[in-house]
This record gives sequence, C-alpha cells and structure tokens, in this order.
Amino acid sequence: MSDPIKYDLVILGGGAASFAAITEASRRGLSTAMVNTGLPLGGTCVNVGCVPSKHLLAVGEKAATPQENPFEAVQYSDGEPTIDWAAALDGTDELVERFRQENYVDVAEYFETDIYEGYGELVDDTTIEVVDGVDEGARITGERALVATGSSPWAPPIDGLDEVDYYTSETILKERDLPESIVMLGGGYIALEWGQILHRVGVDVTILQRSERVLSGMEGQLGREMQCAFQEEGIEVITGNGFQRVRAPATDGGSETIQSGVAVETLVDGTERSVTGDALFVATGVQPNSDGIGLETVGVETNDDGTIHVDEHFQTTNPDVYAAGDVIGDPELETVAAKEGNHAIKNAFGDEGVSIDYDSVPAVVFTDPEVAAVGTTELEYMDEHGTCSCRTVEMEDVPRAKAVKNTDGLVQVVKHHETDEIVGVHMVGPRAADMIMEATLAVKFGLTVDDIIDTIHPFPTFSEAFKHACQAFRRDTSTMSCCVQ
Ligand SMILES: Cc1cc2nc3c(=O)[nH]c(=O)nc-3n(C[C@H](O)[C@H](O)[C@H](O)COP(=O)(O)OP(=O)(O)OC[C@H]3O[C@@H](n4cnc5c(N)ncnc54)[C@H](O)[C@@H]3O)c2cc1C
Repeated sequence: MSDPIKYDLVILGGGAASFAAITEASRRGLSTAMVNTGLPLGGTCVNVGCVPSKHLLAVGEKAATPQENPFEAVQYSDGEPTIDWAAALDGTDELVERFRQENYVDVAEYFETDIYEGYGELVDDTTIEVVDGVDEGARITGERALVATGSSPWAPPIDGLDEVDYYTSETILKERDLPESIVMLGGGYIALEWGQILHRVGVDVTILQRSERVLSGMEGQLGREMQCAFQEEGIEVITGNGFQRVRAPATDGGSETIQSGVAVETLVDGTERSVTGDALFVATGVQPNSDGIGLETVGVETNDDGTIHVDEHFQTTNPDVYAAGDVIGDPELETVAAKEGNHAIKNAFGDEGVSIDYDSVPAVVFTDPEVAAVGTTELEYMDEHGTCSCRTVEMEDVPRAKAVKNTDGLVQVVKHHETDEIVGVHMVGPRAADMIMEATLAVKFGLTVDDIIDTIHPFPTFSEAFKHACQAFRRDTSTMSCCVQ
C-alpha cells in the first residue's frame, strides 16, 4: 500500500464544523484535506437542515398570512391561496445549490483544501482512508486529525416502526407529492418547525409527543405557549404519549385493522388511543455519526450515547485527534458546530486553550410565533439555589405588539437572587429569534436587570418586552406609562 498523502490537518466530514476548521487552518497557513460523503459538501445545515427549513417556513408563513390578517381594514377577496409544494421544493433546491456553491465549494477551493469524496475511516492515528466512494483507496494523513461527521435523524425503538415507511427532516425534502395527513412523532424544534411548514401548505398534522409538553428541554412556559398557538392554528398536539406500537395497512391486531396509511397506538393518561394518518414523520432527535469510522482503532473513546468524548478543548482521548460539531453532542446547532471547529484548530495548532461557554448559547425555534432562550430556566435555578427570582411579561402588554395586533407570547427573565445578574431569558413571540441576542449578551457578560432598564430601547419595538420583564423586578409593569424608562 502506498504512503498516505501528507497534510497539516485532515478532516473526516464536510459540514459546518469542518468549514470553520479549514477557515482557521487557512489563517494559520496550514495545508488541509477533507473527506466527505452522505450529504453533499456543507453537511446538514445547508443541504437538509437550517437553510431548507427556514426557506419552507417562510413559504408556509406566506401561505397562512391571509388567514391571520388581524385588520378588518384589509380584506382578501380571492379566498384561499393555492400552494404548489413541488414549486416550493424547486425554490428550496435552487437556494441550497447557491448557498452550497458560494459558502462551501468556492470556500474550499479558495482555501486550497483537497476534497476527497467517499466514506472515510480513521485507520491509524491521524490517517484517514476512503473505504467507499469516488476516491476509494485514497489515504491521507495529518499532523492532527479532526472528526466532524455530524449526526443523523434518530428513530426510537417503538414496536412496528421498522416495518413502516416514514419521513424524516431529510427525506421529506424529496417528497414532491405530499399526503393529506401526517402523524408526527416528536415535540422538539424539528417537529414544531416541520409540523408548521406541513400544516401551512395544507397537510393535516397531528403531533405526538412523549413528554408532558412540547419543547420539553426548554422553560415550561414556552412549550405550553407553543402548544396553545399550534392548537389555535389547527395543528393537533397530543402530549404525554406512551407510544406502544406503529401499524401499517392490513396488519392485524390492536383495536382495528387499517386499510391505508399508518396508525400509532398510544396511551394518553392511561387511555388507549389509535392516531391515524396517511403518513408518518419521525422527528424524535438525532444520533451521532460515530459508528464505523475507526474510532476504536485509533483510541478515540465515545460516551454512552455514542457521542465522541472530548475535553473542554475538543481533544479526544487520542491527543492528536480532535472532534467538533454534532458528533460530540448537545447542543446540536450550526453555530456551535462552527465555533467548536474553529476552537479545535486553535487548540490543536496554537495551544490556545480556548473553550465555549455553553451556558450562554442561545437556542431558537423558527416557528410562528418564534421561540428563543438562553441560560438557566426557572426550574434549574430552583434546583440549584432553592429559591427563584423570575418575572414574566406577556406580549399583550408590550406597546409594539398591541399596535401591530401581534400579541402572542411572553418574555421571562431569571436573575440571580442576590447579585441581580441576568442568568436566563426565555421568550415566545414575534421576532424572538432576533431579540434573544440582547439577552445572550446579558447572560454572557453578567449584566444586571438594572443595566437593561438603564439602557434606552427604541420605542415602540418588540425588544422592549425584555426591558419590561427586567422592570417587573422593580415595579408593577401593568400600570406603567409606555415611555417609563
Ligand atoms: C431540520 C434541521 C434544521 C436545523 N436548523 C438549524 C437552525 O436553524 N440553526 C442551527 O444553528 N442549527 C440547525 N440545525 C442543526 C445544524 O444543521 C447542525 O447542528 C450542524 O449542521 C452540524 O454540523 P456538523 O459539522 O457537526 O455536521 P454536518 O453538517 O452534519 O456535517 C457532517 C458531514 O460529514 C459527513 N459524514 C459523516 N460520516 C462520514 C464519513 N464516515 N466519511 C465521510 N463523510 C462523513 C456527513 O454526511 C455530512 O456531510 C438543524 C438541523 C436539522 C436536521
């Protein structure tokens, strides 16, 4: 076997973490190579994640807007909009293609990164071999290696699930002919975003969530608000499911035999229910792509959930191998993957010892209304300190929300009970995804509620909701002139 081709840095995987890594490597004048397969270059975010879902949410929003018009002064005379889903997917494909070319293919070329196409495995310390695909047989080695293989949709072990076809957030992007109704398993952000997209383009959606509320990893009020908003919009949300079995047509057993589509047999509050639809969509989370990539061969250990074990500097149990992105686990976000990829290279080649403050990473759900959060929840604070210092302001008390008749939602602030530093902010409402940045700075830099109150916010804006929630620690905000600073 010929000697491997030598680089400074070799990378397994070609997504957000890897591209941040080659950007930092290029800044340092390092030679780089990347092995990628499965998803095209750019990985999840551009091809099947952030970009397509946000584009299609905007399509759905436009489709639903006439129904949501709150102004009597505006009337739509020509009735319901018509929606061409295949055209929406064509638009998505065009957008993805452009993003992929400009932000990934051209970038790799600019940084002179060699791209190897195929399935890669670590075969010896920092050596990667392409074992399948276009460049099969290629072997590359580096002074350091980065594993950034991302994650894939995960399906829970439910009886019968293996025997039925189901959509995931990846496969739905290929379905040009949507079914009339879909049963969706899961209640996290992917389930909510895709549930709303599908509902708004005309699919009858039922969301089944195992926990007692949707968005179970976030502050409780957010999930409850979203559940109400979804129900009001016409999306059925059933929480507290004990999934028992999934059945396809002509399967005997259970309370009935279905002729077409799919049935999910579940227990809700101790009562058996059978929820049926034309198709099933599984949005129950992701699993790390860490199997079959040679980790054990090179001494890289994994955690119980299959994520790669790294220290706070993204170094694995093999000191020459670093790992970043979804494959090292929660929070599985594009921005986090990119920051980890950047920091891994700084640590691997510059010994800079940089790490990430995960407590100040904002999480966003791009539904309508939007959901956004950063930092500690009320419950977490109670658990840690035995007391809580929290205030919630409803959007209906915020002047801008009232003025534009868009009053769904709330903002909750959790502060330190002694120092007044803001430790958590949780919101549902219009523009929450943009508003969370002010809160993120507050949490990251330890600003107090008085720092926010003292800062003049433009009037009237949704951003005032955060200031009002801070003011609520100091006064009764229900009887307040709108220009009180
Ligand atoms: C539906 C959806 C919506 C999302 N929306 C958002 C959002 O709005 N905002 C946000 O911040 N995040 C969002 N995310 C999450 C975000 O996409 C991921 O966190 C991010 O893309 C992870 O980047 P990564 O580099 O770790 O992995 P990836 O981008 O998945 O890249 C890994 C690449 O490695 C390849 N690969 C795997 N194994 C091998 C192998 N053995 N050999 C060669 N190649 C291999 C994969 O096929 C892939 O191309 C979303 C995710 C989904 C699924």
